[in-house]
Amino acid sequence: SLSGKTAIITGSNSGIGLGVAWELAKAGADVVLNSFTDRDEDHAIAAEMSKETGTKARYIKADMTKAEECRDLIRQAGACDVLVNNAGIQHVAPIDEFPVDKWDAIIAINMNSTFHTMAAALPMMRAAGWGRIVNIASAHGLTASPFKAAYVAAKHGVVGMTKTVALETAQEPITCNAICPGYVLTPLVEAQIPNTMKEYNMSREDVVKNVLLQRQPSKEFATVEQLGGTTIFLCSDAAAQITGTTISVDGGWTAL
Ligand code: NAD
Repeated sequence: SLSGKTAIITGSNSGIGLGVAWELAKAGADVVLNSFTDRDEDHAIAAEMSKETGTKARYIKADMTKAEECRDLIRQAGACDVLVNNAGIQHVAPIDEFPVDKWDAIIAINMNSTFHTMAAALPMMRAAGWGRIVNIASAHGLTASPFKAAYVAAKHGVVGMTKTVALETAQEPITCNAICPGYVLTPLVEAQIPNTMKEYNMSREDVVKNVLLQRQPSKEFATVEQLGGTTIFLCSDAAAQITGTTISVDGGWTAL
């Protein structure tokens, strides 16, 4: 059980981050939810989670494009036994047309924030004598697709950083790993469907099967609950010697 442990999940008012937060709360952790929005509904999710699981859940606003806000999120939480770096965005364009502001935002949110939160969290994990870092990378942390230069660069960067931090903490009771999901049907992916339908003149069903899941041999989306379960496993005693590696949850994508 993760009872008495504090788990901070970046970008957790939606999608995978929220799903992982629910599984951590169900496993007994006091969860810190985060996004850059600070809406009433963000706080309401935390209240619902506390009520349903009997653990303490809070929402703390922090914009993952800003170095100091990333570090303040950890400091404000006051404890960080489990850190899940999940916040992420996507933009799709050929490299010679890739908007510079989108490049900067993707590198900041998907990669640099992971550096800042880990730097702030590690001293707290050391003081507590235990820590688990789970970085939500992607199949695109191990392979590439055209038109996703910023995302692929950021996710490969996260995988590299994960290995480095694992080496720096190898002789401590702290592990650092990355989970590499294939496609998961979250708002991030849902948003890509209408344009893709237009571009290829395809039905929603065909876009899902022949475009999104083209490289996912299982032809099924991974679920946020499965990613939560993988995170719980990485926090368990069975995983104490698993560090510096990636776990693919991608229906066979990276076996192709
Ligand atoms: P999502 O859009 O549902 O969630 C993204 C989360 O990031 C949201 O909670 C959002 O509030 C937060 N966020 C965005 N910008 C932020 C900022 N500036 N500061 C703080 N928070 C911010 O998307 P998702 O699919 O759940 O993605 C979560 C992570 O999983 C991302 O890192 C994504 O790259 C990764 N991933 C997703 C898939 C997939 O198929 N959905 C596959 C592989 C990896």
